[in-house]
Amino acid sequence: MSDVIVGIDLGTTQSAVGVVESGFPILLADEEGERLVPSAVWFGRDGEVEVGRRALRRAGVDEVVTSVKSLMGRRSDEVDGRLTVEGKVKVGAGEFLPEEISAEILKEVKMMAEERLDGEVVKAVITVPAYFHDGQRAATKRAGELAGLEVVRILSEPTAAALSYGLERLGEEARVAVFDLGGGTFDVSILEMREGVFEVVATAGDTNLGGDDFDEALAGWVAEKLGVDLGELEVLDRVKWLGEARRVKHVLSEEDEAVFRMPFVGEVEVGREDFEGMMGGFLDRMEGACRRALLDSGVEVEDLQAVVMVGGSSRIPVVKERVKRVFGKEPDLSQHPDEAIARGAAIQAGILAGTVREVVLLDVTPLSLGIETMGGLMNVLIPRNTTIPCKAGEMFTNAADGQRSMRVRVLQGERELAADNWELGVFEVDFVSARRGQARVGVEFRIDADGILSVLARDVATGEDVVVEIGSAAVDVGEAKVEQMVSESVEFAFEDMNARVFEEAKLKADELLPAVDEALGVAGELLSGEERSEIVKARDEVVEAVEQRETAALKGAVERLDQATEHLAALIVERATGAFFSGSDD
Ligand code: ADP
Ligand code: MG
Repeated sequence: MSDVIVGIDLGTTQSAVGVVESGFPILLADEEGERLVPSAVWFGRDGEVEVGRRALRRAGVDEVVTSVKSLMGRRSDEVDGRLTVEGKVKVGAGEFLPEEISAEILKEVKMMAEERLDGEVVKAVITVPAYFHDGQRAATKRAGELAGLEVVRILSEPTAAALSYGLERLGEEARVAVFDLGGGTFDVSILEMREGVFEVVATAGDTNLGGDDFDEALAGWVAEKLGVDLGELEVLDRVKWLGEARRVKHVLSEEDEAVFRMPFVGEVEVGREDFEGMMGGFLDRMEGACRRALLDSGVEVEDLQAVVMVGGSSRIPVVKERVKRVFGKEPDLSQHPDEAIARGAAIQAGILAGTVREVVLLDVTPLSLGIETMGGLMNVLIPRNTTIPCKAGEMFTNAADGQRSMRVRVLQGERELAADNWELGVFEVDFVSARRGQARVGVEFRIDADGILSVLARDVATGEDVVVEIGSAAVDVGEAKVEQMVSESVEFAFEDMNARVFEEAKLKADELLPAVDEALGVAGELLSGEERSEIVKARDEVVEAVEQRETAALKGAVERLDQATEHLAALIVERATGAFFSGSDD
């Protein structure tokens, strides 16, 4: 029993836990038969803790923590006022780290699972949004550990959704869109399937858009009709208004009208059309994010094989209509929308536990092959799943002046950073000493029909070859290791991309900074004081961003420096070509 692995959807508003039983993913219910646990935690002054519906019953009377997911792995300056400087949530009973609060929710679902399965549960797969960065994923993992769980995998929610919809049946290279509208957040992702493994190609959304906003809008609309100012209400009354709005919203997903009732205040009839009127702005924001995800992924709407909708708010008919319009395709809502993620997590858990079988692949390269390039990046020469025999090559150059040889590190794996991939071999290629960027070394990878990889490196100037045979490691790796590598590449896609973007921006910065300094020395006095200080400012920003390892800031700063030095660069070129010379300044 103890090697059972459960799948957990640790949601912003609701959480759930599932497991694969006799080949079917099922969700486990609590003693009241409820499969969804509100992600709400109450802390008593004497150390007692209540979670879920029991915690929510105290809302309004006492402080109850909700939506803690949006605080996971965040700094206090990122979440205006919701965290103390130590990154804790302050409630009446004390201060708690977001992961400590999430741990209480996880303890609750762990207990639910143990009761239903009648045994100890230790291992779990926990889902997180695709956009969660390293720190947020680490915090989620820590929450699991605090709850006494061994987190065997952190899984992306859209990947879980796709697993739950069984989209792997669509076959090789299928592309799908996953639309997830929950209680507090909205995510849309484009996924591509490769040998039964989903890759999140692009993700967009709004971390402040979900069912809670619709409840607010509806309550506000009714309040205005009744001449009530929601902002003036006591907390307890506000909770009641929002609760009633939520009930009415749910009814309106099925019926054309519903009555909003506030005892001692009044009643208002709300039509579905009224509600849809309030949704206009929200729908436009959703549409914008969908278009952004499509654009980022480079996938055309016509190329999508499926559009699936998850998250409880996907049940709202007008949301579904808008999704259909944007993607030009009937969305699939056949899985219980607020249970799909947990079901997908359960399937992933089943795969890891060996209760769900996987397809074996043959005579293709199971993992990508490439070499390490500048900045410690992986440069893929033969992508994963290429049919063998095959060959591919690329030209490389020297990074430093007077360099006489180049180290070729042959790598296998799916990660963006060389260090995260497996090294199959290393060798040196000599070439004629040349200025930086002048030497030319061609590297070619060949895999024969037996799966033997040989790597050939040639100095173009002399035509001298180095050939190294790597052996059969290229295609002969265990299925489990391949699965691990591929799923890690999916899981770390975001961080990896981030690392690559950083390294690339840093390479550019390393090139730009000395060039700018040199140019300033040579032609700086030809610039206006304003231009000069702008360049120096952009330069300092670049240096700072490199030190702080801030990817977005670095990218922006490098671009600004590039722009700020345009005129300077032109002056240098003019000077070099001799077209410019005058004693006057410009
Ligand atoms: P999360 O992933 O954010 O934890 P869920 O996917 O569980 O959230 O969705 C919860 C949201 O779904 C709530 O805002 C709830 O009001 C909304 N919801 C659930 N059922 C319906 C329905 N029938 N009609 C409209 N909204 C619904
Ligand atoms: Mg969710």
